[in-house]
Amino acid sequence: MTDVVVINKLVIIGVGLIGGSFALALRKADLVTHVTGVGRSQANMERARDLGAIDEIARDLPSALRDAEVVFLAVPVRQTGEIMAQISPYLGLDTIVTDAGSTKQNVVEAARTHLAEHLRNFVPGHPVAGAELSGAGAANPNLFRDKNLVLTPIQETSVGALKRVTQLWQACGAQVSQMSAKRHDEILAAVSHLPHVLSFALMHYVSSGNGLEADDRLLTDDMIRPSELLRFAGSGFRDFTRIAGSSPEMWRDICLGNREVLSRQIDAYQGELAALREMLVRGDGDALESIFANAREARRQWLKETP
Ligand code: NAD
Repeated sequence: MTDVVVINKLVIIGVGLIGGSFALALRKADLVTHVTGVGRSQANMERARDLGAIDEIARDLPSALRDAEVVFLAVPVRQTGEIMAQISPYLGLDTIVTDAGSTKQNVVEAARTHLAEHLRNFVPGHPVAGAELSGAGAANPNLFRDKNLVLTPIQETSVGALKRVTQLWQACGAQVSQMSAKRHDEILAAVSHLPHVLSFALMHYVSSGNGLEADDRLLTDDMIRPSELLRFAGSGFRDFTRIAGSSPEMWRDICLGNREVLSRQIDAYQGELAALREMLVRGDGDALESIFANAREARRQWLKETP
């Protein structure tokens, strides 16, 4: 990648898993000279500095943003508007602002409210890569390698800003796509937000013994307790609930940020469960097997196409 311009000063606001990984990946690609981190927790910021993700912990926003070429927002999405309002007065004319938020329509709306004069340099983005881990300590320079990165430029986004952010993500190893924020939120609701809700819900359901209390037959001396359920939970349960280990704060913001689409997806999924339940009640093994076979084949194809 010969014509990617090195960033003299990058400011990361929210130096956690994603912000820290972006900085480390750009460092690895020799594409950044100086990184200033803006954070909330001193301990996390010191960890980010010790790990080499940032060079400097910001004292205040005006000095952090002075001469910044690129500002990367990687905080829980519902904080985006407030942070945009705080940084807007200190942004240089050519400073590019981009973000990693997992929802995009609300981020674009926040930008329209708070970044009015800087919209041409605003490039909304979402790395479809991550982990159930949080904080700078989890940052990894290879996190984005061969992963999807979706940019949802708005009408005002300049060709130059879009090109620069695209090149930066490509240098981190990501496969960059573009789509509208609306399309992004529809797609990610189905394949990311809904699965997280289901995983949190299953873990909560089993660990709080909700299903047990509903069953009178179990309220005896032999009553099964949630701890016993979990003791016998195997690898399938572990796989299904891995993402319930994700940050509750981050996922609260994602769910609320995409609540209309996500509510619709939950309703549709309940329809799927209701149909399966009907098959069970009817004892319709053929119908169940057919759904399971279709699902297994769809998963096999998906894994073949997306190694
Ligand atoms: P994280 O919890 O690891 O990091 C977020 C960091 O932001 C924390 O260090 C926190 O202290 C800091 N922070 C919170 N409020 C702040 C504020 N007001 N000012 C400055 N710093 C603040 O979370 P993450 O996984 O890095 O997620 C960051 C963003 O990236 C979120 O918007 C999330 O939706 C998005 N994202 C996450 C993943 C994932 O799998 N974790 C994937 C793609 C996108």
